[in-house]
Amino acid sequence: MVILKSARDLSVMREAGRISSGALHAAGRAVRPGVSTLELDTIIREYIEKHGARPSFLGYGGFPASACISVNNVVIHGIPGKDQILRDGDIVSIDTGAFYKGWHGDNAYTFPCGNVSEEAKHLMETTQKALFEGISKAIPGNRIGDIGAAVQRYAEARSYSVVRDFVGHGVGAKLHEDPNVPNYGTPGHGVRLLPGMVIAIEPMINAGSRRVRVLEDGWTTVTADGRLSAHFEHTVAITSKGPVILTQP
Ligand code: MG
Repeated sequence: MVILKSARDLSVMREAGRISSGALHAAGRAVRPGVSTLELDTIIREYIEKHGARPSFLGYGGFPASACISVNNVVIHGIPGKDQILRDGDIVSIDTGAFYKGWHGDNAYTFPCGNVSEEAKHLMETTQKALFEGISKAIPGNRIGDIGAAVQRYAEARSYSVVRDFVGHGVGAKLHEDPNVPNYGTPGHGVRLLPGMVIAIEPMINAGSRRVRVLEDGWTTVTADGRLSAHFEHTVAITSKGPVILTQP
């Protein structure tokens, strides 16, 4: 069931989104060779708590950290650790959620660590642009398939592949709500978009094959071929005035 949000709900969700975004980019500024992913996780948790919120992911389904930090061939759901030290040339996907006054904000960004390859840069740029292609379709009257199709078209035209085993989602009082928001699809198909819907659009784009597998820890999701993957996400409200990104500083 899709839950519509009032203007009042959206104003609080914007606060949750601001905190989530602030935490994400505070961690991003700390990405450099020699830093552990656990240090980034600590920055995120402290930022979120300092702003009166709590990390949405901590304990979610048993997840043991405040953020998902996914390096290089890790697609999503990487678990931060003190022994995971970033190296020059890594790409670091960080996904943060903040729960504030009853509402979640959810966003992700892939940061370069030091000097990254041209291939990695192009993958990151393409994934971010694919996200904005998707966001541009998040308008009343369109359907979920219009968003997915836009993301897919943009990424596949650049010879990348779209992860299908994981998708975006509705966001609200719960971190994951209806509807599912795949990063692939057919224009004109799927749930119709209405003002008051809030969705997380989150393309996960692979340099190689779209196939992924989950490691034995039950979380860490890697590309099956070992190649790079990037992940960008915003929480977006659908309004009569067009898409409104709630996860902004
Ligand atoms: Mg999400």
